[in-house]
Amino acid sequence: MNITPKENILKVKPYIPGKPIEDVKRELGLKTVIKLASNENPYGPSPKVLRAMAAASRTVNRYPDGACFYLRHELARQLGVEEDQLIFGNGSDEIIVLAVRAYVGKGDEVVIAQPSFLIYEIASLLEGAIVRSVPLRDFRYDLPGMKKAVNANTKIIFIGNPDNPAGTYVPRAQLLEFLSDLRRDIIIFIDEAYFEYVHEKDYPNGIDLLRSYPNVIVTRTFSKMYGLAGLRVGYGVADAKIIDHLNRLREPFNVNSIAQAAAIACLKDKGFYRRIAKAVEEERIFLYKSLKSMNVAYEQSFTNFILINVKTDSSIIAQKLMKRGIIIRDMKAWGLNQYIRVTIGSQKENRLLIKMLNEVLRES
Ligand SMILES: *Cc1c(COP(=O)(O)O)cnc(C)c1O
Repeated sequence: MNITPKENILKVKPYIPGKPIEDVKRELGLKTVIKLASNENPYGPSPKVLRAMAAASRTVNRYPDGACFYLRHELARQLGVEEDQLIFGNGSDEIIVLAVRAYVGKGDEVVIAQPSFLIYEIASLLEGAIVRSVPLRDFRYDLPGMKKAVNANTKIIFIGNPDNPAGTYVPRAQLLEFLSDLRRDIIIFIDEAYFEYVHEKDYPNGIDLLRSYPNVIVTRTFSKMYGLAGLRVGYGVADAKIIDHLNRLREPFNVNSIAQAAAIACLKDKGFYRRIAKAVEEERIFLYKSLKSMNVAYEQSFTNFILINVKTDSSIIAQKLMKRGIIIRDMKAWGLNQYIRVTIGSQKENRLLIKMLNEVLRES
C-alpha cells in the first residue's frame, strides 16, 4: 500500500489508554477485575444524574444543542464568568487539541513539563511543533526552567495543575511570579482536570487569573470527580476572543445530548460529589498509611491517584497485578521505569490493591 499520511502523523507514538476491564477479563479468563488505571470515579454518577441521562436518552434521535445553551447558562452562573467565555468539548482533551490547532503551526514551539499529561505533546507534534520538555524537580514544576525554555517561537505553555502523573500542583505565588514577566502573546494553558480534589490554601484558581491575563485558558472536566468519563464532556474558560477562535475549529455537535444533560445535573447535585471527594481523601490517607507500613515510597498527591515507587521494573509489577485482576498504570511510557500510578478506588478496591501489591512486591 502506498498511501502515506501527512508528515507529522507517523512521528507520534499512539496514546495507550488504561486497559478496559472487559479486555482483561476476556484475555486472562478472570471473573472479577478492578480498574485503578484511568483516575475514574469508582462510585459512578449520582441518582439525579442517572435520571437526567435517562430522560435525555428519549430524544437522541435529534442532534444535540451545538451551543450547550442550558449547560453554558448554569456553568457561567456558577463560575461567575460570561457565557461567551466558555467552550465545551468532547472531554477536556478536545479543548487541548483545539487550542494547539488554533495557535501552533509547523516549527512553532510549545513548552511542557516532563513527565506530564501525554496529550499536550501528542497534539503539538501532530501540528509539526517543536516540543520543549522541562524535567520536573522532585515531581514539581520547574517554572524558572520552563521560562528559560521560552523563546520568540513559543506559542503555548502547558501547566497541568495538578498535573498527571505527578499529582502535585503549582502554588499561587509561583504561578503569579512565572506569569508576571512572560510575553502576553503566549497562551498559558492551565489544565485543572483535578481542580475539585485540591483544597490547599495556596492552590490558585486559574479562572481568577483571567482578568489580569487574557492569554490564559483554563480547562476542567466532568470525567474525574463527576464520574462522567464515559460520556466525554469537559470545558474551557478563557477570554471571549480566544473562545471565538476555538469555536471556529470546533465541530458543531461535539458534545452529545446525554452528556449535556448529565453535566447540568452534576452541577445541581454538588452535595453528592462533595461527599465523593471526601471519601477519596479518606481513602488516600488509608493508602498512604498502608504504603508506609509496607515501606513503599510514594509521592504526596493532590488528586485521586498516587504515584508509587516500586523500586523494581514497573512493567513486571503491573503485569503481576493484572494477573490478579487489578489494572493499574505502568509509568514506563512516561520514562518512570520504577513507578506505577494507581487511582484511588472504593474502600474495597483499595484494600484489595494493598493486599495484592504486598504479595507482588514480596515476590520480586
Ligand atoms: C484526565 C485528564 C484530562 C482530561 O480528561 P477528559 O476526560 O478528556 O476531560 C486532562 N488533563 C489531565 C491532566 C487529566 O489527567
